[in-house]
Amino acid sequence: MLTRRAAVSLLAGCLALAASALPAAAQSADKLKVVATFSILGDMVRNVGGGRVEVTTLVGPNGDAHVYSPTPADGRRLTEARIVFTNGLKFEGWIARLVKSSGTRAVTVEAARGVKTLQNDDAGHDHGHHHGGADPHAWQSIGNAKLYVANIRDALIAADEAGKATYEANAAAYLKQLDALEAEVKELVAKIPPERRRIITSHDAFRYFEDAYGIDFVAPQGVSTESEASARDVARIIQQIRREAIAAVFVENVSDARLMERIAKETGARIGTKVYSDALSEPNGPAGTYIDMMRHNIRAFSAALSS
Ligand SMILES: [Zn+2]
Repeated sequence: MLTRRAAVSLLAGCLALAASALPAAAQSADKLKVVATFSILGDMVRNVGGGRVEVTTLVGPNGDAHVYSPTPADGRRLTEARIVFTNGLKFEGWIARLVKSSGTRAVTVEAARGVKTLQNDDAGHDHGHHHGGADPHAWQSIGNAKLYVANIRDALIAADEAGKATYEANAAAYLKQLDALEAEVKELVAKIPPERRRIITSHDAFRYFEDAYGIDFVAPQGVSTESEASARDVARIIQQIRREAIAAVFVENVSDARLMERIAKETGARIGTKVYSDALSEPNGPAGTYIDMMRHNIRAFSAALSS
């Protein structure tokens, strides 16, 4: 007959053996559960978290986080999470209320914390909506995305110290890929004749891209999709396209295409390939990850401006 101590130690041994023999997927109960508010951020968290983290994204592919209406299921996802990753800069106007109503004890981490922000009201035209302060689309600069990655890494380590080495290695590998991506973007911009580096998009989501890489973006709709473009803004853009002979206009995946179709029709500018500003495409689409999204967009801009 086994002594009590031997029995306990035998049992512990069996449990350890059982745990180590399980495939990683079967251990999802042990994974760190986190929530990301939108698809671009969810992809970054997955890259840093790797196999230790289970990421749930609230606003999925092609979804518009400016005007999202949370569901009761979102509240449950928050209560199960240890960390809620948000962009911050008032991008997700609905998140604070959702966090509160869910009663979650998760920490909220703003991925854009520390970014040098661009202000909404320095674009020289009337946005016609109430989003004063910082432009939220900071991820459109890859330099900023690297800051997001550092914030994500630090938050994961704070919540799961045992994964420190993994998170650091994952983040370092991903940052290397982002450096290569940024070099690629700069190389393509450099090939566009300087006088042609001007683009029309429907909502003002590319100002950080403009600031970092030197392509001018003009948008009739302002920085949020929440407000419609005013007749005055549309008329101003049409005049500008004619005056400056701008060759192409672009529609983002989160915007209504009709406005840009009208502008294209009135000016003779052509509509370029659909670009991705605030959300990824479906995973098997052209912008299923942040890196693929940035690469797709710069290739679309460069194809339209170089020809
Ligand atoms: Zn936006």
